[in-house]
Amino acid sequence: MAIRNIVKEGDEILSKACRPVEKFDDKLGQLLDDMAETMKLADGVGLAAPQIGVLRRVVVVDVGEGVIELVNPKIIRQDGEQRDVEGCLSCPGEYGITMRPMHVVVEAKDRFGNTFTVEGEELKARAFCHELDHLDGILFKKRAIRMLKPEELE
Ligand code: ZN
Repeated sequence: MAIRNIVKEGDEILSKACRPVEKFDDKLGQLLDDMAETMKLADGVGLAAPQIGVLRRVVVVDVGEGVIELVNPKIIRQDGEQRDVEGCLSCPGEYGITMRPMHVVVEAKDRFGNTFTVEGEELKARAFCHELDHLDGILFKKRAIRMLKPEELE
């Protein structure tokens, strides 16, 4: 495993759409391992492949229940609404208020190419939505109702 450098806002790779994964090989496993390690070190709850410079539809999420690996993920159901503060490892020190669904169901493939579904509520739903947005080149700031001012940050 290796720690990868996290791409910061301003790098055009973060605004590009990612291509689906077609080969479920060792290289994908390595990418997922590196992403999980990089996310953990950065103390994040999610990381998308473009954030380490890889334009593939791959995401890892960990809201404290263990790492969830999502390959070619899509939201197949969403309901409810939540309003909360959101940040991004690619936009250090910046936070904004966004609306997200309260509950989502994501369909994805695992590292071996098996299809599965996973549900998320509250923070987990927010993390899924945030990371899946990255795969389409969308940063949370575009979704933000407003960004927090420096004096609002603790
Ligand atoms: Zn992010």
